[in-house]
Amino acid sequence: MLQAGLMMDRPLLISAVIEHAAAQYGRTQIVSRDTHGSLHRYTFAACAARARRLANALRSLGLDAGSAVGSIAWNNHRHLEAYYAVSGSGMVMHTCNPRLHPEQLIYIVNHADDRVILFDATFASLIKAIAPHCPKVETWLCLSDAANMPEVEGIPNLCAYEELIAAHGDQFAWPEFDERTGAVLCYTSGTTGHPKGALYSHRSMVLNAITLCMPGVLGLSPTETVLPIVPMFHINAWCIPYAALIAGAKLVLPGPRLDGPGLYEMMETEKVTASAGVPTIWLGLVHHLEQNQLRLSTLQRALSGGSAMPRALIASLSEKYGIEVRQGWGMTETVASATMSALDSEQMMSAPGERHSIIAKQGKSLFGVELKVVDEHGATLPRDGISQGELMVRGQWIVSGYYKSNTSPLVAGWFPTGDIATIDAYGMMQIRDRAKDLIKTGGEWISSIDLENAAIGHPAVAAAAVIGVKHPKWQERPLLFVVRKQGRTLEREEVLEFLSTQVARLCMPDEVIFLESLPVGGTGKVQKAALREKYGDVFS
Ligand code: ADP
Repeated sequence: MLQAGLMMDRPLLISAVIEHAAAQYGRTQIVSRDTHGSLHRYTFAACAARARRLANALRSLGLDAGSAVGSIAWNNHRHLEAYYAVSGSGMVMHTCNPRLHPEQLIYIVNHADDRVILFDATFASLIKAIAPHCPKVETWLCLSDAANMPEVEGIPNLCAYEELIAAHGDQFAWPEFDERTGAVLCYTSGTTGHPKGALYSHRSMVLNAITLCMPGVLGLSPTETVLPIVPMFHINAWCIPYAALIAGAKLVLPGPRLDGPGLYEMMETEKVTASAGVPTIWLGLVHHLEQNQLRLSTLQRALSGGSAMPRALIASLSEKYGIEVRQGWGMTETVASATMSALDSEQMMSAPGERHSIIAKQGKSLFGVELKVVDEHGATLPRDGISQGELMVRGQWIVSGYYKSNTSPLVAGWFPTGDIATIDAYGMMQIRDRAKDLIKTGGEWISSIDLENAAIGHPAVAAAAVIGVKHPKWQERPLLFVVRKQGRTLEREEVLEFLSTQVARLCMPDEVIFLESLPVGGTGKVQKAALREKYGDVFS
């Protein structure tokens, strides 16, 4: 018979994170750019006190365990306080992505049964548009003081965050409950059909946040300063707002300024050592550095995820600017990162090209997560780095189902990701494409990611995207979209000539279309569906 371990059974709760931070690292700073541009600076201890005030305030509004509180907000200190106050008191923090279509926003606010919505003043007109369609919301709470409240007439029960919390005390006894209780609700972007809700448990988030602190992942400790560029409104800013407080790392929240100059200034003045964002953000930052001949004097590690990190960007950040690049893969359904590609000591010594190739892959599964690739019949494919199939994932922070849905997305206990990948003998996973983005030409598959990567390597290319377009003979052929760098000239022939030295003839795009910018969706990714809709028939 199995013998039970004789250890205490203490739940992993988000309230423990903020109290740990306040008690152990009470003087550590949180710096936040508020919606109106000014910087706010305070400590973990002060943040905890205000989170407790908010917890009292939410109770005074009649909310209790299980109630949902929505947020439509940037990465800032008030949003952070809400992260802790809401989940810590057993309520569900529903982070809403303001870049969703207003109809989708209305859908998710109603679907989640949000009773309070916290919002930044920036989003006042959005709130005005959605409020009449969200009858279950009892209070609209603007993350502001009374003096900076936006003009939003016609919204019932509108109040200023600062006024509300000032009326309550900073003592609050966080309730204790099962660590499997829902803490945060995050909806997928809903590219097909309605957005689907992923309800993260306290346990899944705390485990992910602890993992993020490991040296081989983001590497957080009291000597680090971390700036999450990834939004707190989608996938919890990859759990950095929890990880920093667990590790005692200074936390810098950039608010609405996510452009190259804004990020550069904040990274330099606050001496940021680690940061995380999608490749588009890193491209914008590198562009700013290049144009102004600047260097980042303190940044040591750049974490990228959300879409494939182009090799040229890895090369630029690591070789030119001396910043260690790491790549993670994850999705709404995996809380935050499920994998990480980082170099081991032997690989650190290898030639630059070799190092970049390793980082360009999506990495090894973190402890707590397992990966496999399967063929169309569900049979597991060999870990040979060549056999490609659908990536399946399971683990401590992977969804088991969607909020208020009775049908399980799982296949024999694994979550099917819709990504096509390979895994090698050492567990290194590489995303070849999203299943729907792979290009089928004749009997062969072309990875749009590979082609985009190659095109981005041209010094005059600012951004590139590839889609498969219907073709009478080949079924599909690749079509390349290119955005030129500012002030650079670049023509079709030059692009094709450049590509021909790197990609097989079969994979060469049939046409190149130059655009001013690429359509970008709610999570900063290129919207290939929009490109397909507009250009899908050019070869038929
Ligand atoms: P959506 O874009 O639909 O909102 P998510 O934000 O959950 O969905 O994105 C998840 C998807 O993003 C993954 O399934 C994968 O296709 C892509 N993705 C995430 N990280 C990476 C990465 N490092 N490299 C390539 N693709 C990635």
